[in-house]
Amino acid sequence: MNYPALKLQDEEIFQTIKNEEKRQAEEMEMIASENYVSSAVLEAMGTILTNKYSEGYPGKRYYGGNQIIDDVENIAIERAKKLFGAEHVNVQPLSGSPANAAVYMAFLKPGDKVLGLKLDHGGHLSHGHPVNFSGMLYNFVQYEVDIDTGKIDMEEVRKIAKKEKPKMIVAGYSAYSREIEWEKFQEIADEVGAFTFADIAHTAGLIAGEQMKNPVPIFDVVSTTTHKTLRGPRGAMIMCKKEFAKQIDRAVFPGMQGGPHDHINAAKAVAFGEALKDDFKKYSAQTIKNAKAMADEFIKLGYKVISDGTDNHLAVVDMTSKGLTGKEAETILDRIGISVSRSTIPNDPNPPMNPSGVRFGTPAITTRGMKEADVRRIINWINNAIENKDEIEILEKIKDEVVALCKANPIPTAK
Ligand SMILES: *Cc1c(COP(=O)(O)O)cnc(C)c1O
Repeated sequence: MNYPALKLQDEEIFQTIKNEEKRQAEEMEMIASENYVSSAVLEAMGTILTNKYSEGYPGKRYYGGNQIIDDVENIAIERAKKLFGAEHVNVQPLSGSPANAAVYMAFLKPGDKVLGLKLDHGGHLSHGHPVNFSGMLYNFVQYEVDIDTGKIDMEEVRKIAKKEKPKMIVAGYSAYSREIEWEKFQEIADEVGAFTFADIAHTAGLIAGEQMKNPVPIFDVVSTTTHKTLRGPRGAMIMCKKEFAKQIDRAVFPGMQGGPHDHINAAKAVAFGEALKDDFKKYSAQTIKNAKAMADEFIKLGYKVISDGTDNHLAVVDMTSKGLTGKEAETILDRIGISVSRSTIPNDPNPPMNPSGVRFGTPAITTRGMKEADVRRIINWINNAIENKDEIEILEKIKDEVVALCKANPIPTAK
């Protein structure tokens, strides 16, 4: 891409951006939470909408001159409603964690009890980690995945919910590869009088593409990031039943945030517009097919995949099944130009900074146009690198192949 003004004015930052462009063009992105936006989404982000202050909501702003900003926000809201069948949408959350903070603020008081998935079993920081605001402000209790199947056992969840009587139950995760039984969660919440909160940050695009079950018509409130499988700008939104609309809006502004980022909200609208098209259904279906091929190939090569497969866009692989830790695997894969993120496995015996697993995801490589056969080649390169981790020549040869496959499948903004 060309940035003539930036190049002229600030060579230093211009150069870092060009360097990152090259890195993204030539490296294989298998971090499950990352993706590539379209040129249209990117253009919307880089507009003069960033100049505006618009605290408040369409028709009710605390600043003048917001008639057109109101149009932008209303279009984003209408498209999101259509995409997820939501009764009410707030598109202002700046990112996933602040969105979750607003959800808790809307439904809970500090000290209230929340039931969420244990963090080393696939939950997110903002679901009660002690170093995160969520763990400091609220009393999180936990359910786990079944250690043999790697899946959530809903009868266990019911037992814990009945014993703990939480005020809210959270479902939706960062490193869980299976379909979630939203109806059952709602049933259990009804039995114990809890609110239901779905955090679909990872799978929103797969749900929008109608490839996974949608919690929006079932749960009380649903948050999502817009930059993962949904393939929009960095940001988030909250969807809820009409009866909770007011408390959600007040929690986002003035509860959590000041002015919304209107340029980002325009880009969210563009991304939602893309997700409403048939092509996006194909994209999300292919993302899952690729993830299934990925898990299958790892299993064939003798790796332990948590839950023995996947229903979504990611798989967590226990690297100790090949005699190394997640961090060691991450470092080796860096050397062949494949980016991944180390991850805990359920009941991980290793510490969080050096956990046993690696989380692999297919959203980004699928956006580049890669299919199952490409994925199987990539997993074999990964295995080859791991088995020859001290053979510099072999690693360099693999890296050349990685770069070639990346160049054959350029990222959307380079097309
Ligand atoms: C990524 C993620 C978030 C947080 O998103 P940020 O935009 O990084 O704050 C929240 N919840 C889940 C489940 C996630 O995976």
